[in-house]
Amino acid sequence: MGIPLASESRLSSLNGRTPTIATLCSHSSLQIFHGARREGFPTLGICVGPPPKFYDAFPLARPDRFLSVANVKELPKATQELRDDGAVIIPHGSFVEYLGPEAFTTMDVPVFGNRAVLGWESDRRKERDWLESAGVTMPRLFEDPSEVRGPVIVKYYGAKGGKGFYLAKNREALEDFRPSGPYVVQEYVLGTRYYMHFFYSPIAEGGYRLRHGALELLGMDRRDEANIDELYKLGAQEELLKAGIRPTFVVTGNVPVILRESLLPRAFDIAARIVERSIDLFGGMVGPFCIEGIMTEDLEFKVFEISTRIVAGTNLFISGSPYSDFVEPGLSTGRRIAREIAHARAAGRLAEILS
Ligand code: AMP
Repeated sequence: MGIPLASESRLSSLNGRTPTIATLCSHSSLQIFHGARREGFPTLGICVGPPPKFYDAFPLARPDRFLSVANVKELPKATQELRDDGAVIIPHGSFVEYLGPEAFTTMDVPVFGNRAVLGWESDRRKERDWLESAGVTMPRLFEDPSEVRGPVIVKYYGAKGGKGFYLAKNREALEDFRPSGPYVVQEYVLGTRYYMHFFYSPIAEGGYRLRHGALELLGMDRRDEANIDELYKLGAQEELLKAGIRPTFVVTGNVPVILRESLLPRAFDIAARIVERSIDLFGGMVGPFCIEGIMTEDLEFKVFEISTRIVAGTNLFISGSPYSDFVEPGLSTGRRIAREIAHARAAGRLAEILS
């Protein structure tokens, strides 16, 4: 038996009924609704203003019903309505950002996964404490700029999608940086980026075992990042700057990737360490998460970030990925979420996967 995350009163809205899978109409909602429908759940799309028309173009991924709010921040006012509907909220990156981590943590509607993870993910220093204490290698952090020897990346706290990041080739270039808010200075890691989509189930039997449950790898992508990904065409960052363009890491899309098979044991080891540590720190990170890092030429994987819920890169794999096809053909992360809710419900273990 795993760790209960949700109280009985939180889950009382689900007593004896089929849950309704609800999420904000954005980010990975098509995949979430599509997966829920395939597992036989009713679905509810939370939207701002009238229902978005684009769902009409995707009948297999259109939610059964919509809940319209004037502003995402007003969603907590609809708490009773969501409870009456037997809603289980599926968090995704845009949902948490628009509603705000505070409201997400306190809303009295069952949420898929452990909402305590938000406090650890949204603060870059706490996130580092978690990952480093799990034995994961991260890019070096420079508290003292005089220690900088090579290229560094300066990241603002909570930078939205990589906007406003600053690259400095060396310590001299860092001196030109004029901060406009709290930031961290990190070693700029040269290598290849991988965004690995894992799923942790505390209730699964079999598979890649952890202390409780098992770990699955469902896909992998790399993000296309605005003008920085085209930088090589100009030869150097200075060329962009000469043209009056500041390099940005704003995500514009995703491409599928795979890792050398010989590196998979390392990928699983890193993911397992992060999950096991999360169990000790806050009861466990349940469901989908993404480990984001850079493989260096020495085949060292340095993790710069973790996303603790479904990431938009999983949208590449609605009908399965080169990894999820070995778990079950055609399994998307959205469907895996719905499957987890169905299994937990059948086993009377919803409190271990909802919070
Ligand atoms: P983050 O906000 O931490 O997810 O970073 C956004 C983007 O910046 C990533 O997708 C990477 O392309 C890049 N990046 C972040 N940290 C590093 C690093 N230490 N070295 C090189 N690139 C980085």
